[in-house]
Amino acid sequence: MKAKKTKGFKKNLSFYRINFSFQPPYQLVFDGNFIKQMLDHNVDLDKQLFKYTKAKIWKHTTICVLRELTSLQHLFPRVFKYAQGLSKINCKHIEGVSPAECLIDIVKPKPEFGGDNNYFWICTQDDELRSNLLQIDHVPVCYLFQNNLFEMAEPSKTCKMRIQNLKELKYLPNEQEKQIIMPIKKEIKQQQAEKRMEKERKLAQELAIKIKKPAKGPNPLSVKKKIGKVTKSIKKRRHKIKNKKTRRQNKQCVNNEIIEQNS
Ligand SMILES: [Zn+2]
Repeated sequence: MKAKKTKGFKKNLSFYRINFSFQPPYQLVFDGNFIKQMLDHNVDLDKQLFKYTKAKIWKHTTICVLRELTSLQHLFPRVFKYAQGLSKINCKHIEGVSPAECLIDIVKPKPEFGGDNNYFWICTQDDELRSNLLQIDHVPVCYLFQNNLFEMAEPSKTCKMRIQNLKELKYLPNEQEKQIIMPIKKEIKQQQAEKRMEKERKLAQELAIKIKKPAKGPNPLSVKKKIGKVTKSIKKRRHKIKNKKTRRQNKQCVNNEIIEQNS
């Protein structure tokens, strides 16, 4: 039987790591219903998360969550005991607020801490709280999927769109930058075109050299024969022919004489 896989944990974690600088060790904050689900289904969270992230995790809850669990400890003693063993984030809600309000509040950037994001992953089985938390862009929201698989919810569409816009703003030049860039771009294009033309010209020259065969000597058809030599050779040939003719005629005369004598 194949092991169950999470739907998109790695992909969603990458999104938060790249866009909001989440780094290990990861800080997980649990509410009461998440702890209950985890204990009811014997989920080994450390093992699962190490498999996905190869990183250490720190587990927390808040004073307000613990306060609620204290009031319910007669119903959920195991959950209360487990929560007691976690590190407690001092949410500074002296009067106490509901766990949902508390968790939403702790993830909001605080001016007293320089307005920076904190790096909590909020783990809850409460659907309404999950959807409210996802409206705050930088918060990874986690839950147990199919009872025992740790999952990270997909970032909201609004969050993805904001990130996309920020990226475009970051990488696209503004009007002032465009005025500086445009002439440079034009010049670069012109230089590239000139280089290309030069290259083509050189190539054409090389090809022309290759096609033209190297001349070994003068073309015999293009060279005029010296008139004197030609006439000499013609005379020689005529002389030879003449000699042959006379020899033949002499021979014939001798033959004729012999015939006449015989007759
Ligand atoms: Zn609180």
